[in-house]
Amino acid sequence: MRKIGILLETKDGALKKTNFGVITTARGDDHELYGFLLNGGGADYKTELEAYGVHKIIEITSKKGPLDWNPVSWSRAIIQAMEHFGIQTLLGLTSAQGKELLPRIAASLDAPLVMDCMDINLSDGRVKKSQFSGKTVATIEVKGPCYLYGIRPNVFEAEHSPGEAELITFQTDPENGGLVVKEIRQDAARGIDLSEADIIISGGRGMKNSDNFRLLFESADLLGAAVGASRVAVDAGWVPHSMQVGQTGATVSPKVYIACGISGSVQHFAGMKTAGLIVAINSDPAANMVKKCDYYIVADLFEIIPLLTRQLEAIVRSNEQ
Ligand SMILES: Cc1cc2nc3c(=O)[nH]c(=O)nc-3n(C[C@H](O)[C@H](O)[C@H](O)COP(=O)(O)OP(=O)(O)OC[C@H]3O[C@@H](n4cnc5c(N)ncnc54)[C@H](O)[C@@H]3O)c2cc1C
Repeated sequence: MRKIGILLETKDGALKKTNFGVITTARGDDHELYGFLLNGGGADYKTELEAYGVHKIIEITSKKGPLDWNPVSWSRAIIQAMEHFGIQTLLGLTSAQGKELLPRIAASLDAPLVMDCMDINLSDGRVKKSQFSGKTVATIEVKGPCYLYGIRPNVFEAEHSPGEAELITFQTDPENGGLVVKEIRQDAARGIDLSEADIIISGGRGMKNSDNFRLLFESADLLGAAVGASRVAVDAGWVPHSMQVGQTGATVSPKVYIACGISGSVQHFAGMKTAGLIVAINSDPAANMVKKCDYYIVADLFEIIPLLTRQLEAIVRSNEQ
């Protein structure tokens, strides 16, 4: 049996939905899946993880309980767990947390690491990832003592594969290497995480100011969507950076991406190109976003978005009756 480790992420006391796509892609007839949890709560998540086919849930703790967030001690704890359980392949998410942990683990193990994988074949070690702001897709074959992969959130559809999992506590007290976490600030963005969302409605320069983003939040609440933004909207201070989609922001793969008043620069597309369906609302028929989307509305977004919200409200009301 080949042992595959999966770095599981939680938020607000729940497993992130994007973990399940990673677990699904890690499955294989001769694979034994080890889910690493560092925030505690293994017993609470057991049923959910069993539904996706995790075989062993490794709850990594210190003598005092769950380890406080610290990228150095967490990565050292994961390495110790990998060595203890004989795991040479580790998968995680290319998320803020994954970007802190996976490169540290790879550097310590002198192992190859590919981040932002869009496709992965664990039997031949080949992965696909986009390059040059999404203009090309590279197929990369890695070879080394261990294999580490960061998966682009939401690229793999999660599928159930029910089984039974064993819950194991692995106690360790790794050094923090002198790195001290002084403060953890709550994300200023509200609502659903961009990387977790099935639907994203994003605004760009066409939103004109911060207040107008309220229109997007109203629609998003009804759609169960997250709100994103272009860099222009972020640089103007209308919304926090955590909402930025693109080359220097978040890379997202929702089922539907609705771009409102966003021209469709190469840098913006780099972050949302893999969306299942792209809808553009733009007053300029020549905008790149209009040319490259699946559906478009050439119109003033200040007419269309309130209309969309009213339609959604009517649907919600009729569903409630
Ligand atoms: C190194 C580098 C990294 C970058 N990283 C990113 C990144 O991560 N993400 C990112 O987004 N950008 C990034 N950029 C910036 C990028 O090049 C563009 O400048 C930016 O994406 C443009 O944002 P925008 O589409 O909101 O604005 P614009 O290009 O100005 O487009 C505004 C659009 O709104 C439409 N519009 C205006 N009013 C209305 C209305 N009332 N109704 C409907 N439509 C309307 C216009 O027709 C236009 O198409 C980066 C640039 C560099 C150099």
